[in-house]
Amino acid sequence: MHIVCANCKAINRIPAQKSHLQARCGKCQQAVYKLEPVALNDANFYRYVEKNDLPVIVDFWAQWCGPCKVMAPVFANLAQHSENLLFAKVNTEEAQRVSGEAGIRSIPTMIFFQAGKEVDRISGALPEPQLKQWIMQTLAKL
Ligand SMILES: [Zn+2]
Repeated sequence: MHIVCANCKAINRIPAQKSHLQARCGKCQQAVYKLEPVALNDANFYRYVEKNDLPVIVDFWAQWCGPCKVMAPVFANLAQHSENLLFAKVNTEEAQRVSGEAGIRSIPTMIFFQAGKEVDRISGALPEPQLKQWIMQTLAKL
């Protein structure tokens, strides 16, 4: 399985018998996988969503957005408890190219990617049970 390092964004190949939870990056020696959202930008977004073999759920947000602040701890908490999913965040004010290409009209918007392809998206601050339910429904489409 290929996992993009949460720290340096190098692509790591994890042998089938090894768990990505314990794997160290061949390049930076840090943990490849983190149980917390990884911040992405215009420079590393596509590599991260395309080269990871696990689904990546991206939260598009901005500093000034109140509902985004409500969403953030819910999103982080789910990341903490989802060992086979990757969670990432894109600051729409900083990553303007990616946000434009993703067609973000309102925030927060969460997009579920598998191998770089959008599977589904949902907008608005969701309570954790609803966010979880959306993720389960989207996983069922894969
Ligand atoms: Zn690394």
